[in-house]
Amino acid sequence: MARESFAIGNVRVRAGQAREVEIPITRLVTGADVHLPVRVLHGKEPGPAVWINAAIHGDEVLGVEVIRRVLSTLSPKTLHGTLVAVPVVNVLGFMTGDRYLPDRRDLNRSFPGSARGSLASRIAHLFMVEVVDRCDIGIDLHTAADRRANLPQIRADLDDPRTRELAEAFGAPVMLHSKLRDGSLRQAGKDRGSTVLLYEGGEALRFDEVPITAGVDGVRRVLASLGMVDTNGGVAEPSVECRQSSWVRARRTGILHLEVELGDRVEAGQRIGGLSDTFGRRVRLVHADRSGVVIGLNRAPLVNSGDAIAHLAEPVVPD
Ligand SMILES: [Zn+2]
Repeated sequence: MARESFAIGNVRVRAGQAREVEIPITRLVTGADVHLPVRVLHGKEPGPAVWINAAIHGDEVLGVEVIRRVLSTLSPKTLHGTLVAVPVVNVLGFMTGDRYLPDRRDLNRSFPGSARGSLASRIAHLFMVEVVDRCDIGIDLHTAADRRANLPQIRADLDDPRTRELAEAFGAPVMLHSKLRDGSLRQAGKDRGSTVLLYEGGEALRFDEVPITAGVDGVRRVLASLGMVDTNGGVAEPSVECRQSSWVRARRTGILHLEVELGDRVEAGQRIGGLSDTFGRRVRLVHADRSGVVIGLNRAPLVNSGDAIAHLAEPVVPD
């Protein structure tokens, strides 16, 4: 007997088929209709339903490329289960390279949303009803915020055995235990019974090959661990597990010169950079306040006193 079709928006996708679906969000003042573009691969064979999304923050374009590459390797003829791909969730922010929505709301603080709320709230609600409620597992792709860069990393509730299993399967260089945040997709998904991984890597408004490749391979490995695809993204080194992280902050205003890179291990007290005045005279050295792995860096040349400079995560098992 053929596998049952998959209902989404106002269409039903038959087993063994791929379909693009445009789910209506709103109509702009100009009269243009705005849709949420979704691609569904409904595998011929049974298996779990997984969603993958990017650009909840409109300037985090890297995940759009991760999804493009993942989709190019998949066919509904051979897929076990169902993949629901939403490359751009914040469709309005994406068009203008903006993290937020036009009303300045953060979509990732607007979940689960409501049908009659603000624009952010409505998009969140639509995503919950059309995507999250139809899936068992989700992967939410992010990058660092404006003028910062992140080491490829999974952020997830590592105390939940199911989530931990998938985080390990992803195989990012670092997996960071992170408590849920109210209003986030990860929180709302969990509340509806989904297992959600958050991937962080790279910079806003950029395509960086290292975090793109780590993202594609990680997603492929998760799909392989779920039995949805045969080949995986290669064997990964085990992720370095971290449970605590914090930012080293600037104690003076100055022009930043970093002496560490993403993924470096630093010791407490180690010099990681310096701050200079406009003529290059050093005004302050920057030291690590703890030992750890560099998982995030400020890429802005000018930092103000108090600004975050380097994000250090403490491995559970120090090497
Ligand atoms: Zn983000």
